[in-house]
Amino acid sequence: MLRVTEIFRSIQGESTHAGRPCTFVRLTGCPMRCVWCDSEYTFTGGEHVPLESVLNQVRAFGCKLVEITGGEPLAQDEAFDLIERLCSEDFEVLIETGGFVSTAKVDPRARIILDVKCPASGEATRNHWPNLERLRAGKDEVKFVIANFEDWTYAIEIIQRYELEEKTLAILISPAWDAVDLQDLAGWVSESGLNLRLQLQLHKYIWGPEVHGV
Ligand code: SF4
Repeated sequence: MLRVTEIFRSIQGESTHAGRPCTFVRLTGCPMRCVWCDSEYTFTGGEHVPLESVLNQVRAFGCKLVEITGGEPLAQDEAFDLIERLCSEDFEVLIETGGFVSTAKVDPRARIILDVKCPASGEATRNHWPNLERLRAGKDEVKFVIANFEDWTYAIEIIQRYELEEKTLAILISPAWDAVDLQDLAGWVSESGLNLRLQLQLHKYIWGPEVHGV
């Protein structure tokens, strides 16, 4: 059984896969409490759904790309079985993880999109640093949500300390919604001299920041 908040088909709003049709499996629950979290509705509730039923719903949507997200998807042991089954059926599987749980048991065919929590999230002390050592060049992506200049300088320090330009497919710089001036952030990225990718959350611009499951 998996505890599931929602399964839906939409457009991928983030990462190097932004704009692609994608099925999202949003699992319930998260051990973190980021102050700017936009998924608080996943903290409670959800439905207990058998693994086979989740697979059937994903198959029915017919997208090659599937994202397992949350909440924190890796906080449920059964999520690792779901990932393995989807990879074995040749889905292209993205794991959007908040970085608190170890990624060591994730099927290596899946692609990791790993959040590193910055100070303004209130959860920077809970980053599980060995996850950064496991990132694979050409495959995995790392994401920093930036709420202010302190977050920005923190991100640069982590990118350099862990040599993330060499270890990842992309380093995603994402603004915390309504928290940082987008032109300021674009300027910091363009002047950084680093191989970064500024990303906006497409789905929020298309459907609005409060709408989910679309
Ligand atoms: S890790 Fe993700 S789901 Fe969990 S509190 Fe932080 S932003 Fe929200």
